[in-house]
Amino acid sequence: MALTFRGGMHIPDYKSSTASKPVKVLEGDKIHIYPLQQHIGAPLEAKVQKGDLVKVGQVLADSEAYVSAPVHSSVSGTVTDIKQHIHPSGAKVTSVFVENDFEYTTFEGIKPYNPEKMSKEELLAVVRNSGIVGMGGAGFPTHVKLSPPADKNIDLLIINGAECEPYITADHRRMLEEPDTILDGIGIAMKILGVSKCSIGIETNKKDAIELLKEKIGQNSGIEVCPLKPKYPQGAEKQLIYAITKRKVPSGGLPADVGVVVMNIDTVAQLSKTFRTGMPLIKRVVTVSGDCISEPSNFEVPTGVTYRYLLDAAGGTAKEINKLIMGGPMMGIAQYSDEVPVVKTTSSLLALSYNPSAFDKDTPCIRCGKCVEGCPMHLMPLYLNKFSVSGDLEKAEEYNILDCIECGLCSYLCPGKQSPLHNIRVAKQKIIEKRRSK
Ligand code: SF4
Ligand code: SF4
Repeated sequence: MALTFRGGMHIPDYKSSTASKPVKVLEGDKIHIYPLQQHIGAPLEAKVQKGDLVKVGQVLADSEAYVSAPVHSSVSGTVTDIKQHIHPSGAKVTSVFVENDFEYTTFEGIKPYNPEKMSKEELLAVVRNSGIVGMGGAGFPTHVKLSPPADKNIDLLIINGAECEPYITADHRRMLEEPDTILDGIGIAMKILGVSKCSIGIETNKKDAIELLKEKIGQNSGIEVCPLKPKYPQGAEKQLIYAITKRKVPSGGLPADVGVVVMNIDTVAQLSKTFRTGMPLIKRVVTVSGDCISEPSNFEVPTGVTYRYLLDAAGGTAKEINKLIMGGPMMGIAQYSDEVPVVKTTSSLLALSYNPSAFDKDTPCIRCGKCVEGCPMHLMPLYLNKFSVSGDLEKAEEYNILDCIECGLCSYLCPGKQSPLHNIRVAKQKIIEKRRSK
């Protein structure tokens, strides 16, 4: 029986235009742009200068901080500039520009590791130095995730293959095309964590991936595939953990509090690739889709190519774009330029002729309760919206606004065209800033 959580909702998935399309490997563009912020944590310092020659896999920027992850060049060529450039978040971030020489010369010293013979500390050092971060969208440094506090008794690794956001099929294709790489990466992560059990959660709308991974998993490997009910937001960490284990992450807590570490499909695949080739995180799979795209596709691209390059590779646009989104339509970030680069966390680029989150601030809440019914965190989005709009942050905190996982379901379900999520996000930010300034 398919596992699930309470709340949430089945929403149209719009995945059919790319689900059966194999990943096409794209070479690279003339100019690659590498923002120095592609992770959660301390900002990086550039380690190259304008005019330097760089090679594939060479560090462009790094930091001494523990919670951080270096950025590497995905092409060989010349550093032409280091300047502020638009980041997927909408902010301007210092970025290294590299002109591709199309030689793809590999940086000296890049060679495969032998994870079977390495200690936990040595494995973690490779993960850190290879710039691996959560590729599902969060960008949390993987070496930190794989080092839970010593007082937490981790007994299970959960792999997130739910891919519940509409349109995105990057993880689905990865599971179909590289199951052995995924299982190898899982083995490395299990070794680092010292756990003997792993559950891979996959929604049943990806039956082919469920069957293939089940077939590939060896006897007594400790790894199992857990079919999940297709429902949004099934891939959210707390909902995924509950669906598979029935353990509830406490309010303000982390998966480690219930003995679990959760990793994304693409991230474990990257672990395997890095250890087996020595190459850091410099490529990723991106789904390019939406009703404006002429040829919706899944691409493997070197980081640093722009959205313009992706749109051209997908045959251009057939209609005028109303909204360009990095990520899915529910939790993704609206983009205002096609000159923004693909970063480590870019799982998809959507070009839509309509605005899925259009709202009307003048339409009153009709108290229909749909947002309450759908909220996977069992919150009261209509009140959170009201307190956020009126600036009553104390009341919003009392109603557990900080537990909101920003899944966007309340805004999606609202017939009154309210946008609870937008207002909740703003209020949450204010509360967090207020706490920091104390
Ligand atoms: S965005 Fe927050 S409040 Fe709205 S449904 Fe999701 S978790 Fe609930
Ligand atoms: S779904 Fe919209 S209209 Fe209905 S109660 Fe929630 S905020 Fe109000």
